[in-house]
Amino acid sequence: MKDPNGFQSDIIAAASGFSNTAKKGSLLLRLIRASQPITRTEIANRLEIDKSTVTENVKPLIAAGILREETVEADLSRGQGRKPRALSFVDDQDYFIGVNLGVRTSQVGLTTLHGEIIEEDDFVTPTDIKRTLQMARERIENLIAKNADKNLRVIGVSVPGLTDTERRELVYAPNANWRNVKIAEAFNILPDVRVVVENDATAAAMYEARMKIRHSTDGLLSNFILVRSGTGIGVGLVIGSEVYRGTGLGRGIAGEFGHMTIIAGGKPCVCGNRGCWEKYASAASAASLYTGDRPLRPSETMPRFVEIVSKAENGEIRAQRTLEKVGDYLGIGIANVIMGIGIPRVIISGRLVYGWKFIKEPLYEAINRSIVGKLEGWSVEAGEPAGAAIGGALEVAIEDYLANGLNV
Ligand SMILES: [Zn+2]
Repeated sequence: MKDPNGFQSDIIAAASGFSNTAKKGSLLLRLIRASQPITRTEIANRLEIDKSTVTENVKPLIAAGILREETVEADLSRGQGRKPRALSFVDDQDYFIGVNLGVRTSQVGLTTLHGEIIEEDDFVTPTDIKRTLQMARERIENLIAKNADKNLRVIGVSVPGLTDTERRELVYAPNANWRNVKIAEAFNILPDVRVVVENDATAAAMYEARMKIRHSTDGLLSNFILVRSGTGIGVGLVIGSEVYRGTGLGRGIAGEFGHMTIIAGGKPCVCGNRGCWEKYASAASAASLYTGDRPLRPSETMPRFVEIVSKAENGEIRAQRTLEKVGDYLGIGIANVIMGIGIPRVIISGRLVYGWKFIKEPLYEAINRSIVGKLEGWSVEAGEPAGAAIGGALEVAIEDYLANGLNV
């Protein structure tokens, strides 16, 4: 039976524990994209399926001109008699645009299916959302004009808040105070090009998943929690190799742990509550911890997170203590999230990763104090800074193309 993605067998789905036939196609395509060029044998080993199943599934994609198979340099240590052939995407004509709308800074960038960020343009985010969208749109139009001979496939947009179920609008971004922003409409420049809107922590999770697939030699990164700590805290969830956004009326809200209370009667938060996790463990919260939560004198400005990190690196005790405190609070919250979701693998993303070496130890201690610390094999590691910014937005665009845009 042929499903809409052109995948003829249920074996990949069975091997990966999926019943949904669309998902197995995404897995195979994701593996090829993350690890290209990749041989059929390696695909078969990593997905734990027969090589003939791989062949059967890639055949229509090669015929449609989506994948190509070429001879690659043999690994002589394995003593292979002939040069292996490996699969990769044909991406000479297709490109993708990503837009990360951040509370402080925003980025617009361009990539191809090979995934390298080819162009990136950053700007300070204006407080007025209309102006922000206009500045992003001008940059998108410039990229389209410069690449008139190629095909723009999808525009991916990552936003610091909740999205609607169709992933076309930003519903609410508390730290920017943006509400009900029709983003897909604002970036509807070419009629045939889809615009997909995604929460920034989920976007960062997609990015980290690809990086981990690329750098690992076995399997896929199937289950992990991504904690994005920047101006606020967002959590992205990857369960069974798919991002989880919530279900029914809760679709789009999953992962809003930044506003879970960790200190009763604590610091007031923009959401209207007190003692929210992000008031204590975000990169932005480090600045108020550093200044002792007092109002600034007119001559003072809030220190930026990277400035606090550089002071800590230069041996300043106050900066070091600040980062250690943030690590402690971050660890307390992460232990709660692991206990709630039951996935003991966590990747940290966002500006906070710049201070990882000061944050790591107190974070581990906080987790070790919790029930999670009694588990064998929990892990918390730092991700790559690009994933929280333009990398995640570009990943959203490509993921959508692989899931919905291929013409087989
Ligand atoms: Zn809050």
